[in-house]
Amino acid sequence: MEIRVTRSTTVGQKVRPKDSELGFGKYTTDHMFLMDYSRQKEWHDARIEPYGNLRLDPTAMVLHYNQEVFEGLKAYHLEDGGIGLFRPEKNIERLNGSARRMVMPEVDPDLVLRAMKELVLLDRKWIPKSAGTSLYIRPTMIATEPALGIRPSDQYLFYIILGPVGAYYPEGFSPTRIYVSDAYVRAAKGGVGEAKTSGNYGATLYVSQEAIGKGYTQVLWLDAKELKYVEEVGTSNIFFLINDELVTPPLGGTILPGVTRDSVLQLARHWGLNVSERPISIEKVAEGCKNNSLKEMFATGTAAVISPVGLICYKGEDLQIADGKTGELSQKLYDELTGIQYGRREDLFGWRFRLA
Ligand SMILES: *Cc1c(COP(=O)(O)O)cnc(C)c1O
Repeated sequence: MEIRVTRSTTVGQKVRPKDSELGFGKYTTDHMFLMDYSRQKEWHDARIEPYGNLRLDPTAMVLHYNQEVFEGLKAYHLEDGGIGLFRPEKNIERLNGSARRMVMPEVDPDLVLRAMKELVLLDRKWIPKSAGTSLYIRPTMIATEPALGIRPSDQYLFYIILGPVGAYYPEGFSPTRIYVSDAYVRAAKGGVGEAKTSGNYGATLYVSQEAIGKGYTQVLWLDAKELKYVEEVGTSNIFFLINDELVTPPLGGTILPGVTRDSVLQLARHWGLNVSERPISIEKVAEGCKNNSLKEMFATGTAAVISPVGLICYKGEDLQIADGKTGELSQKLYDELTGIQYGRREDLFGWRFRLA
């Protein structure tokens, strides 16, 4: 399918903030990619247009029944002046997995990769250059059919938008304070926890507000059935270094299969660490804080890459992890992953995808 391009006539007029003021998700670029789906024509009319509002009928199904899936990845200025993505095929594969779960049509991976490439290159001057900054890419699919009955939509819109984002740790790592929720849950077995679909996130706001109000950074989610096993932290996967074993909960339908999670597992195994994907109870984690067998705890995700945890609050008690500072392994993983992403380190696994 051909991608038709209509260039914005106002390029250069949109505010482009200083790298130090970027933050996350506050700014978007000059253009966006769109394509439409109908049962008769399937995906059609792939196009890049000036960034702007969408027009939706108030009955558009996404607004009522949440038929929506999305992705998040980044484009980086490489050390040699080129532009790279990190394992984009994994995000597209996951997008199609989420779409299947939500009874939405799959997209052609090659077309979506081409769309990302054309869009990022067209808006390449929006990719910030300071250390740790990048251009966030948000592919999104929504159900657009105007009808109020509950059934899968016959029409969809797929779009990709871009936005410059700041360095997550401008002054180096600052370990997070995590609140363990033993009253609310994120995803139950049989539900949609493994899909990146908007309802999963709206449902967590209430608890995360409560945690933030108490001075914590994020919520740690336990399994919905027994409130016993650790699942994820906020919108990141979670790892524990217990003595010399690196442990992360197994993917079992309730956990988002993170690209960063997979990359950490591959790297750790490559380095010869003892790595397990196994259930880990919150009691064991709390015990590990007290008897010092828990050496490190960190979250993984595209936004922050590696996010060290300094403390958890469980049953009203604040428990420090080791010395509460960033651990050696957390730092090493962060350096290696960002090194590969920005083209500073050898790409042993072929994860870097060069756009230019
Ligand atoms: C996106 C996301 C992650 C992290 O996935 P990455 O591919 O590593 O960015 C983890 N958990 C949840 C709930 C997510 O939405």
